[in-house]
Amino acid sequence: MEVGFFGILENVYEQVNESTTSVLESVEDANLKAKYLKELEEILVSCVTTQHKVAITRQAVKETIARAQDEETQEPDANIYDDLLEESIGELEVDSPLEGAIAQAASLKTFKDLLEQNNVSANSDGDLVATECSNNFLDPISKKRMTDPVRNKICDHVYDRGSITSMISKSKNKFKCPAIGCANRKPIKVSDLKEAPDVKRQLTLQKRRQ
Ligand SMILES: [Zn+2]
Repeated sequence: MEVGFFGILENVYEQVNESTTSVLESVEDANLKAKYLKELEEILVSCVTTQHKVAITRQAVKETIARAQDEETQEPDANIYDDLLEESIGELEVDSPLEGAIAQAASLKTFKDLLEQNNVSANSDGDLVATECSNNFLDPISKKRMTDPVRNKICDHVYDRGSITSMISKSKNKFKCPAIGCANRKPIKVSDLKEAPDVKRQLTLQKRRQ
């Protein structure tokens, strides 16, 4: 039963990550994007909370059984289990607070990494906002602003020419598209790359605005 419960949570974490990737890649409207990401984050927090409460309850049950066995000889009363269980849960909640579990949860870390890679961050109110330098302008390899963007003819992802050609030669032609969630699993060839004048134009416009 234990494996089943945590297995289900692992599936939920995986599905939330997939949905997060889809939202980051496909939702253009910034407000909608922030709204969906916030909802996904809330699902993760609920799951981590549930996982934490189940872990605490399991531990409390173990402690209760051990303590009840000690006291049973004097007082064989079923009510004693309820009281001992409540007491154990209370103590464990103080010892391992939920905030700590949320701060350390791997699923939430993965989520925040995904947002960071896509330049979405939380503002002082805790709202998620896409930062000025949009995903399109960052090279997925160096994570730096592109200067000479080229597009992969097969999957349409854009990279900086310098980064992608150096990765292709370093990997001896085995480098695959590094864009998150890209379905193209073929190694990239230099001949797959073409100019990306649209991105270049946007980069120039953006630079002028700064
Ligand atoms: Zn790609």
